[in-house]
Amino acid sequence: MDRKVLVIGEMKGPKIRNVSLEALTAAKQVAGRGEVISAVFGTHSAKQVDLLSQYGAGQVYIIEDSDYDEYHPELYTHAVVKIIQETQPDVIVMGHTGNGRDLAPRAAARLEIGLASDCIDINLDASDKIVVTRSIYSGKLFEKKKFNSVPIFLTIRPNNITPIRYGSEASAIPYTVEKPALTLLIKEIVRRAAEKVDLTEAKVIVAGGRGVKSAEGFKVLQELADVLKGAVGASRGACDADYCDYSLQIGQTGKVVTPDLYIACGISGAIQHVAGISNSKFIVAINKDPEAPIFEVADYGIVGDLFEIVPQLTNEFSKI
Ligand code: FAD
Repeated sequence: MDRKVLVIGEMKGPKIRNVSLEALTAAKQVAGRGEVISAVFGTHSAKQVDLLSQYGAGQVYIIEDSDYDEYHPELYTHAVVKIIQETQPDVIVMGHTGNGRDLAPRAAARLEIGLASDCIDINLDASDKIVVTRSIYSGKLFEKKKFNSVPIFLTIRPNNITPIRYGSEASAIPYTVEKPALTLLIKEIVRRAAEKVDLTEAKVIVAGGRGVKSAEGFKVLQELADVLKGAVGASRGACDADYCDYSLQIGQTGKVVTPDLYIACGISGAIQHVAGISNSKFIVAINKDPEAPIFEVADYGIVGDLFEIVPQLTNEFSKI
């Protein structure tokens, strides 16, 4: 079956987020020979058309308006609903990011259509029905959901799909939409962590727990993360102890991450932490307690003092 699929592109500053390119690849998969279109918002939207077309978008709706530079729930929901009503896609896909988690259910509810969030796989079964795989119960189980009807809204977990370049040419469709009366006023946006690399999209994460012992101790982890072009994350233990900001927390009540390499330093491996890292490709644990539960989920374990091991790793990797 040929389907029309709309990908909601998400910006981070002047750049499109990688997860939006991953969403385009997922979209191409379910579209068959159907059409993949995209929508992107804000001052820098027009500059994304080339890139989005290379990754498979045939048409790109652009709302080139600075009011959309920062996510606003009402403004975005209204615009996305209008674009969906106009383009009538069978499937809408976007990243399961902070904004995606907020926007997708709002738009799906407004349109009274189905939603599957945090999908890690999207496929077609033998009868060409869309089947998604998503993790439930904080990553302890995976469920497969089959949709018998469309339209549906899907959000995909970042870092799960390798974006594929198709090299097509897209036409840009400048789009304007009247703005709704806003009931919610965003007075200030406080960026808590000056993240060099977004945790949810990072390929490498060096995470610290209570074993790091201080905010100063996290600098050692940052040095390794810098050498590996990765991001620093943390357990809730470390956040509770005020060694770092809660925006770095990974786990059941923090961020779910899917890096290629997760290096857990001084983290015991509580089930609530593991819930956020179980989809990492490789987990390396550094812990001085050989009985620490983190070693049960780690692919490689190093028993020892992180303050001896991490600087050695930084030193060795910086030679590559
Ligand atoms: P600890 O359990 O204290 O472990 C510290 C580890 O460091 C130990 O294993 C120790 O051997 C090791 N260590 C100490 N010094 C060194 C050293 N020099 N070198 C090497 N290793 C060393 N936790 C999360 O992380 N994320 C969540 O989202 C989350 N959500 C939760 C939700 C609920 C409802 C509840 C009840 C709990 C949640 N928790 C969460 C908390 C979780 O249960 C643990 O308490 C927390 O993960 C422990 O953090 P930690 O591993 O850093 O600390």
